Amino acid sequence: MIGTKTEMNSSETQTGELKRHLAGQLEKNRVSDRGMPFLMYHEIDMPGRPLCRDFSGHTAYAVPQAELRTHLQHLKDRGVRGISVGEALSGDYDSASSIAITFDDGANSDLLAAAPAFEEHGFNATFYVVVGWLGREGYLSHNQVRELHARGFEIGCHTMSHRFIPRLRDSELEYEMVHSKKVLEQILGARVDHFSCPGGFWSRRAANLAKESGYLSVTTSQPGFNKIGVTDPYCLSRMVVRRGMDVSDFDLLFQGKGLLARRAKEAFLSVPKYILGPDAYVKLYGVFIP
Ligand SMILES: [Zn+2]
Repeated sequence: MIGTKTEMNSSETQTGELKRHLAGQLEKNRVSDRGMPFLMYHEIDMPGRPLCRDFSGHTAYAVPQAELRTHLQHLKDRGVRGISVGEALSGDYDSASSIAITFDDGANSDLLAAAPAFEEHGFNATFYVVVGWLGREGYLSHNQVRELHARGFEIGCHTMSHRFIPRLRDSELEYEMVHSKKVLEQILGARVDHFSCPGGFWSRRAANLAKESGYLSVTTSQPGFNKIGVTDPYCLSRMVVRRGMDVSDFDLLFQGKGLLARRAKEAFLSVPKYILGPDAYVKLYGVFIP
């Protein structure tokens, strides 16, 4: 009898443990099921440093240095670590405790403001640079992009001259995606594996060319999360971080709340872009699409 009771207790304990284990797994899957958020920053607005461009289409994306630091500290307080795109795609990082962080355009604030803040928090990131803009006023110099790379950050390519890719001729697309990769690799003395699309204008043709020319991924500006090993690495979503997002806005972004609304807004905004074509859109509206 005693034996039976002990067996029963032991069996009940096992059932309880199994239930807890399954509940834990379900919770883990629920959290990681949505995939990993990828964030997209641009130039960082530093006190005393003029922005590379001074009109609203650009400044709306220029997050002040203090806000960037608040975002990073907030992630750290939540037990979430910032990682590079390459790290995210390796599959070695849990979606619930990691977030891929990217910077577009290659402003020198990448090195002057972002890098020290990331190092302080023990985070990594990917910096996509416009190769033909390296050395221009306000942008990284060749030495600075090498320094960023030497400090352990990932450097990606954001075309040669920031032209929007969908309507480029094959030879132009080759120049913006393949030639730029080779030039950047020569500057760094290292492989460049990741590409991001200017203005978020993605095309299947560009994705195919990226794959053929040895890139491992392409990031877009389509808001969403990426399921590592499931999402097409040549069409990765990113969520843009804008100036003036406080911690609660940032949390909503990170948690994916309002994602459908953001996707709908993005789709709505993209209609004139696609009807007119990116270059005519920029000309007509006098905007800069980073
Ligand atoms: Zn850009």
